[in-house]
Amino acid sequence: MSQYVYQSLSGEKLTKPEFTKYIEKKVAKTISQFDLINRDDVVTVAVSGGKDSLVLLHILSKFQKKHGFKLNAILIDEGIEGYRNKTIPKAQRVCDDNDVELHIYSYKDNFGQPLDNIVKDGFHPCSVCGVFRRKLLNKHARELKSTKLATGHNLDDEAQAILMNQLKHNLELSARMGPITGLQQDKLFVPRIKPLYMIAEKEVMIYAFLHDLTDDFTECPYVNESFRKDVQEMLNNIEDKHPGAKQGLVKSFLDNLPMLRDKYRSKRSIQTCNECGEPCIGESCNACKMQQKITK
Ligand code: SF4
Ligand code: ZN
Repeated sequence: MSQYVYQSLSGEKLTKPEFTKYIEKKVAKTISQFDLINRDDVVTVAVSGGKDSLVLLHILSKFQKKHGFKLNAILIDEGIEGYRNKTIPKAQRVCDDNDVELHIYSYKDNFGQPLDNIVKDGFHPCSVCGVFRRKLLNKHARELKSTKLATGHNLDDEAQAILMNQLKHNLELSARMGPITGLQQDKLFVPRIKPLYMIAEKEVMIYAFLHDLTDDFTECPYVNESFRKDVQEMLNNIEDKHPGAKQGLVKSFLDNLPMLRDKYRSKRSIQTCNECGEPCIGESCNACKMQQKITK
């Protein structure tokens, strides 16, 4: 008797091999529809050791064997006790299993102290973390000669970000989103791609579990302090009552994205930071500005 592992929005029941094919086909479609990866690309996967990035790494490593692009991985160790010590070994194991080289960089080495210390001085963890992580990912991906930086953002992540930006009236940030991010191209910026863009979080979880990528869905201990968590709960409640709502939100956003990009493109030119030489708008990059605030 067939053992079903998943029922799609249209009511179709799928077995493990059918579900695997369904997810991988959806990822391949996103890659080709938005022209995310070509044969001559060097793709760096930003892995956190969480389910999304491990699923992304696993699927891209399968595609790489077929299509020939180069693949490696970066992990940023923020210095979060009880979280990173669990996720780094998982990331290392999945990278080893898939023959992908993993490069690890830490806040401590780059910014002088771990996130746990910075937070003790009253800084909001996610505000610091996001700025520092963005800088390190771009800098080190560029040093690895990557042509694409792939992140594990899924459909739920994007739906949450769209709504958060609406609620905060920050449409300029939305204009930078989408399956391939950014408003302006620059040789110092490695383009960011999101191959799991159309995959729901629930689907990522099932795939991760079925392929033995992780069975521990530990979240960062600071996640409850985030605005995102509230928006996530709200969207999950809506999705429960109205299945397909998240997909509708993301698809509507994609329809409007060209207009948003036209509106916000090339208002400010890209320069290099006076402190560190990384690309930025203005005289200093956000990470250097943040570091100055922290050390004051
Ligand atoms: Fe960083 Fe906040 Fe994400 Fe934790 S939840 S990893 S602090 S951005
Ligand atoms: Zn800087």
